[in-house]
Parts: sequence; structure tokens; C-alpha cells
Amino acid sequence: MEFITEYTLEELKEKFKELGLEPYRAKQVFRWIYKKFITDFDKMTDLSKEHRKLLKEKFLFHPLEKIEKVEAPDAVKYLFRTKDNHIVETVLIKERDHYTLCVSSQIGCAVGCTFCATALDGLKRNLTTSEIVDQYIQVKQDLGEEKIRNVVFMGMGEPLANYENVRKAVEIFVSPEGIDLSKRRVTISTSGIIAQLRRMARDPFMREVNLAVSLNAVSQKKREELMPLTKTNTLEELMEVLKSFPLPKYRRITLEYVLIKGVNDSPRDAERLAKLIGRHKKRFKVNLIPFNPDPNLPYERPSLTDIMKFQKVLWKYGISNFVRFSKGVEVFGACGQLRARREHALK
Ligand code: SF4
Repeated sequence: MEFITEYTLEELKEKFKELGLEPYRAKQVFRWIYKKFITDFDKMTDLSKEHRKLLKEKFLFHPLEKIEKVEAPDAVKYLFRTKDNHIVETVLIKERDHYTLCVSSQIGCAVGCTFCATALDGLKRNLTTSEIVDQYIQVKQDLGEEKIRNVVFMGMGEPLANYENVRKAVEIFVSPEGIDLSKRRVTISTSGIIAQLRRMARDPFMREVNLAVSLNAVSQKKREELMPLTKTNTLEELMEVLKSFPLPKYRRITLEYVLIKGVNDSPRDAERLAKLIGRHKKRFKVNLIPFNPDPNLPYERPSLTDIMKFQKVLWKYGISNFVRFSKGVEVFGACGQLRARREHALK
């Protein structure tokens, strides 16, 4: 038995063909799953009894089991358990008139950012396509009629290190016969793995998806301290790749910058950031994310005054920037924190 949500529509048509079913049947099933979020073949009323029976023998629906839901005013955090007993977290963020879903792409992460709780236990494995897609399906089933307008790959893991499975999940998210999100409403947030960014740049499908890159430091030395994997993915090379990345019209790359008190939050850091961007101002915008304190991590959040001083420098250089307080502090909203706490509690 396999999970039906592992497949894009084209792949599902092939699978159905092997079972002696017409390709349009695949489309029907795909629409039940991703338009109506029905995950029970018996409820797919336009399929014959025989077809439902056949599909039930071949396919399963949920690779994840929902085990916990923690609500805060501006975010809901879901914890899921995989079949091999790992924990995956997903955060639903409430915006003014819509929702954004933050999905995980790996169990743990190999990048090892020192300010991130996901990094504490290293990388366990990649999530499959169906495990990524099931996060959306189960949250949507819980949410009912309300719309999830954006999907961001900003949960646990480095999405570009799980390129194939993430790509297939994105195909399902944007398929007109599926969830039908616009590509600009799907964001890949990466720590900046150069080889994978080059791959993305060569991939006409993936390069139309929104790109966010975790910068977090403006010197190679500091970046290596905060994000050990950047030793082999240098800042200089990263900026070079980003400055020539083939962007769709009117699209910008987001540079994510977690502001940590006394580490990377001085006006001099802001000056250096402006210098790194240089004359490519129109290509980038900067998201400043004040660090979300965590008892397992040795960092603090900067004061509001320091955050504003940092911003002021960027404005002086005409660099568009926003401060994003990571939502759901009450539900341990920073990347990996709830999972980490739960796993540490379980140990
Ligand atoms: S911040 Fe992101 S890239 Fe860095 S360790 Fe955490 S999950 Fe990995």
C-alpha cells in the first residue's frame, strides 16, 4: 500500500493507468483530495463501487497522525507523528484576512544554526512528498472553509536539501486541479546552499516560486559561527548567485535576518548589510526577525530601540525592510521550538 498524496497529478494518471483506470479518474480523485479535502474513497461519490474498492486496496491517505494542537491568538501549532515515530511541526499563522501555513520539509536539520532549536538533534531524515502535503491537508481539514493563502517552507529543515520531494509538493500546491495556489504564494526559505540554489535557478518551474534566504550575518566569520554549514557555502558566493538569480518580473528575493542582541544587531552590521546588497536594491527586501527567546539557546532578543536603529540604517540606503515579530511566541513559534520541547520532555 502506498500514500496517494505522494503523487503529482501526472504521476497519479500513470499509476491509475497501471491499474486499468482511465486518466480522468485520477483527475477526479485528485480534485476530491485537494479541492474538497476528502480523504475517504467511500465519500468520492462519482466513483463506482468497484473503483472505490480497488483504490482502497492500493492506497492510503494520511502518513501523519495529528497528536497535538496548541493555539495562540495569532498562530496555531500542530504536531504530527510520522509512521516511524518522528515528530513534525506545522504552524498556521493568522494574518489579517487569511492564513499562512508554515510547513516542515525535514525531520531535524543538518544546517546546525546555533539559534535554532530544530538544529539541536541534527538531521534525522527528509520528509516524503506525502508527509509535506499531508501537513496542508490535515490543517485544512481542521480549519474548514477558511482559506490558507500562502505556504512557506520555513518549518523544520532545509527545503533545498530535500529538493525532489519539496518540488513535487510544490507541484501539488500550485496545480490548478489541486490546491491551486499561485506560485508567488509559495515560498522556499533556504539557508543558502549554493549548489541547490543554482539548481533552482536552472529549473524553470522552481525559479518562479518565491525565494527567501536566511542571511543572519554580514561577515563570513559571523555567519559561520551562527550557521556552521555556511563554511562551504560562503557569503560571497551566495550573494553572487542571488544577484544573478533569474527572477520573475516584479519579484524580489527576501533576505531573512534574525536579529540577536549583541551578536548581529548593531548599526555597523546594518551598514555592512547595505553594502552587501549594493546597487541591487530592487532585487532584495530584508525581513528583520527579532530572535524568539528559548530556554535551550544562549541568545536574547534585541531591544526595540536597537531594532529601530538597525532599520534606520537600511532606510538610509533605500533598502526595503520589515520587522517581523515571529508570530505565535506563546506556542513557541520559532522554528523547531515546540517539537524540541516536546521531544526533550519525552526523553
Ligand atoms: S534555522 Fe532553519 S536552516 Fe537553520 S538549523 Fe533551523 S531549520 Fe535548519
